[in-house]
Amino acid sequence: MFDTHAHLNFKDFDNDRKEIIEKSLSKGLGIINVGATMKTSKEGIKIASENKKVYASVAVHPLHAEEEFNFKELDKLADKKEVVAVGETGLDRKKKETIKKQRELFLKHMELAQKKNLPLILHSRKAHEETLEKIPNHKGVIHCFTGNLKQAKKYIKKGYMIGLNGIIFKMDLKKVIREVPLDKILLETDCPYLAPPGWKGKNNPLGTFEVAKEVARIKRVSLNEVEEITDRNAHEVFGI
Ligand SMILES: [Zn+2]
Repeated sequence: MFDTHAHLNFKDFDNDRKEIIEKSLSKGLGIINVGATMKTSKEGIKIASENKKVYASVAVHPLHAEEEFNFKELDKLADKKEVVAVGETGLDRKKKETIKKQRELFLKHMELAQKKNLPLILHSRKAHEETLEKIPNHKGVIHCFTGNLKQAKKYIKKGYMIGLNGIIFKMDLKKVIREVPLDKILLETDCPYLAPPGWKGKNNPLGTFEVAKEVARIKRVSLNEVEEITDRNAHEVFGI
């Protein structure tokens, strides 16, 4: 199975990164570490270069829109063999004051993904309608999906998968989970965030199994089926 959205490249894991990666790999997980700044994008590439079945995605997150951003450098990072996607990128209305800058950045990331033929990892907070208007027909995923079924269907129509993580324990996404076909779903953790209920400490890629169990329960299919099909989806979207 794949944790298609982890942040083991963040400093939160400076003390236990190695141990967590080893444990995750031993349980059969693959991992994509997603960049949120130039620094964490580079860190993700470094981690990927040291571990099999660990990959990287590069971008500057919309909440970091006003920080250091070197587009030429990002373009070069996207060419590294460890990089399987551009993201996370998109719009986040938690920081409304930077939305203009976020839009500029988002556009550049979308162009980069198309130019490099890499899938997009989309982030959207309170911005699904605008995001849906702006995204090209392309491959990728809307990560940490919290929208409604109608929006989910629009993303799928444009070529994107629906990314599910521990937020499904916090928000009522049952209708989306029930109706979206398994072959359009990607599993993720967004660790260190969004730990499943009862989890000890910060989240890590092993939390993917809890998300898989919950999806299986809601869809009334076997855990095995969820694991198999979402794993296949990850390989298909990211070309790995
Ligand atoms: Zn994330």
